[in-house]
Amino acid sequence: MLHAGSILRSRTPLLFVPSVLRLIAMASLAALAAACSSEDDTTWNAKPGQNDAGADAQPDSSPGDVTASEPSEGDAGNDSATDDSSIPDTSVPDTTEPDAEPIDTATCVQSMQACSGADTCCDGRTCGTTTLGQVCCGNEGIACATSDGADCCGDLLCVDKRCQKGEAMFKAPYSCGQSWTYDHHSAEVREALDFIRDDGGQTNGAPVLASAEGVATQHSQPSGAGNYIVVTHSGGWQTYYFHLSSFSVADGTHVMQGQTIGLTGTTGASSGPHIHYEQLLNGVGQKIKINGVSLEPYPSYYNEKSLVSDNGCSGEGKPYMTWGSNRPVHAEANLSSPVVGTLPGPTLVYVVCQTQGESVTAEGYTNDWWSKLSDPAGYVSNIYIDDPASKLPGVPDC
Ligand SMILES: [Zn+2]
Repeated sequence: MLHAGSILRSRTPLLFVPSVLRLIAMASLAALAAACSSEDDTTWNAKPGQNDAGADAQPDSSPGDVTASEPSEGDAGNDSATDDSSIPDTSVPDTTEPDAEPIDTATCVQSMQACSGADTCCDGRTCGTTTLGQVCCGNEGIACATSDGADCCGDLLCVDKRCQKGEAMFKAPYSCGQSWTYDHHSAEVREALDFIRDDGGQTNGAPVLASAEGVATQHSQPSGAGNYIVVTHSGGWQTYYFHLSSFSVADGTHVMQGQTIGLTGTTGASSGPHIHYEQLLNGVGQKIKINGVSLEPYPSYYNEKSLVSDNGCSGEGKPYMTWGSNRPVHAEANLSSPVVGTLPGPTLVYVVCQTQGESVTAEGYTNDWWSKLSDPAGYVSNIYIDDPASKLPGVPDC
C-alpha cells in the first residue's frame, strides 16, 4: 500500500502540496538518520567469519527457481467417452455420463504415505518428494496440515493451510496498520532493506514483529548488526532483524507470526533507529517478499516506497489511511443516519467489511460503497478511504 503514492495518483491536487512538503521534510530527516552505516557493511564484507550474523558478503546469485515436481497424471484415459459413432442418432438425447473411473479410495495412497509412480494418491495429491522422502504430497494450492510442509511437494511449505512457495509466509516486521518506508543503499549487505516509519509514529522503540512462525535466537555484534534476532523458519528460511534496542523474547523461543521479538533501536553500526531486515534461504539473502509480493525494485532512498503492515491484524479489519479532513462516520451506510464519530484528518482505520449504501458524490467521485470501521464503529463512504478502487480489494462484503 503506497499511501502517499496513491494520493498522488488518485486524488485531487488539494493534498499534493502538503504531501510533497511532508515527503521532503521526512526525506531530510531520513537522510540524517537511520541507515546501516557503510562502515559496518564494509566491515562485514571485509571480514567474513568474524561475525556470527552470517553477514558475510554473499554472491548475488539467486538459487534459481525451485519448482515442485510435476504432478503425475495417474492413469490416463479415465475419461474416454463411449464410442457411439456407430449408433444412429435418436431424438432422445443421451444423458448418461461416460463411466469415469473414480479414484478408488480403498487403494489410493494417503497424504505423507510412501508411494511409487504406479500409485494414485488420494485427494488430488501427487507422488513427490518431501522431507519424509517419496510420499503423496500437495502441489501449490493443495490443502495441507503440517507446520513444516512435510505434506507439500518439493520445497513448498504449508502456509495458511495451503501448499505455497516459502516466501508467501512472510509479513512485514512491524505492527498491523503501521506504514514504514524502506531503502537499500549501495553499501548494504545482501538483499537487505532498512525500514523507518513514515506514518508519523516513532520509529525508535516501535515493536519489531516476527515475519512468520519460527525459532528466535538472540545475537550481538557491537561493530555491525548490534543486538539482533534471527528467526529460523521451516524450509531453510531465516529472517534477520538488526539494531534492536532490546530483546522481547528469550533466546531460543518458538515465536508466532506477529509476535513482538524486540524493539526498534540503533545498536551496532547504525546512524539512527531503523529495522534492518533480511530474508534468507539456505543462508543466501533473497529479494524480500511480503505476503508473496516482491518489494523490488528496491529504492535507494527512503520515502519513494512504503509498506503498510498487516502482520498481527488478526480479524480486526484491514488497515487503511483515510483521506480528507473532518469526515463523519455514520451509524449506517447512508448520510441521513446519525454521526457516531469524526475522522479529523488522514487517519489510520481498520475496515472490517464493506457494503453498498447511499450513493455519495464528493471531491469529484461518486461511490455507493461504504466501509464499516472497527473504531469509531460505524460507516464511512469509500470515497474517503485512501485506495483508488471504489470497492476495496481484499475486504469482505458485510
Ligand atoms: Zn541495513
